[in-house]
Amino acid sequence: MMTLTLSFLRTALPAFHFNPSRWKPNSENTARRPEKQGQVDLVGAGPGDPDLITRKGWKALLQADVVVYDALVSDALMAEIPAQVQRLYVGKRKGAHSASQAEICQLLVELAQQGKRVVRLKGGDPLVFGRLTEEMDALRQHCIPFTLVPGITAAAGCAASCKIPLTEREKAPRLRLITAHSCDDRPIDWADLARTDETLVFYMGLSMADSISTELQCHGLPADWPVLLVERGTHEDQRAVRAELGSMTRMIQDNDLQTPTLILVGRVVEHYDANLGAEQLLESLMEEQR
Ligand code: SAH
Repeated sequence: MMTLTLSFLRTALPAFHFNPSRWKPNSENTARRPEKQGQVDLVGAGPGDPDLITRKGWKALLQADVVVYDALVSDALMAEIPAQVQRLYVGKRKGAHSASQAEICQLLVELAQQGKRVVRLKGGDPLVFGRLTEEMDALRQHCIPFTLVPGITAAAGCAASCKIPLTEREKAPRLRLITAHSCDDRPIDWADLARTDETLVFYMGLSMADSISTELQCHGLPADWPVLLVERGTHEDQRAVRAELGSMTRMIQDNDLQTPTLILVGRVVEHYDANLGAEQLLESLMEEQR
């Protein structure tokens, strides 16, 4: 049986309740069977705004013993989770060792085997680019009951907060969610993507922005084809930058956009009103004064 290395949690968790010295992996603990059966709820946290988690996801959090979460889950949502719920951070953080997918799977299994009710909280929708299969396989392999609670994916969250649709009857009857990074490094079929009747949404696309711009233009989309770049969509400090295919790389650099950023490409972006940022700021200032 694989032994779980918990050193990453020690470095990653200065602010949380987990005490690794009191951790007993199951291998040291086989004689005692837990009285209650543990379970894992795989829950979508939504894109950032804490109000964008589902009721079902929130109920699961209220009933949890422990929440295992990663970098995309917003601090604002974490701050609302009751203090007695144990928090285990398994995402990447500067200078700290991040947990591998195998370590996360093992952690979920062991916590459930200890009889705990575990929420595995993932940014956006766990069903979209969420490494869900590995975690479900591990739970199935160990006969651990689990549920799946979908969330609002970044595409929907970002589009809503920028007040644009993702599809439109005439202009964009098709929508594609694309990851610019895939584990198997399968090449992207750019010719297939360069269509004028689709909305393309690139996840994890910042480091690939240059290829997205060049390849889509090489395969026929015009340089002035609409692009919207949304950084930290739905968070309080969201930034949205209107660009075009030909200018998007420069706009990313000029605005120093950082991850998580979503790249939306297509005519739906024409509905974006650049004054929206100012309008939203005004609305929230007025809200504060009420
Ligand atoms: N399961 C997640 C996606 C994980 S992939 C979901 O459904 O949203 C991670 C990528 O998602 C990031 O690199 C970024 O491109 C995008 N992303 C996630 N949250 C975002 C947010 N709040 N704003 C902009 N992009 C976001």
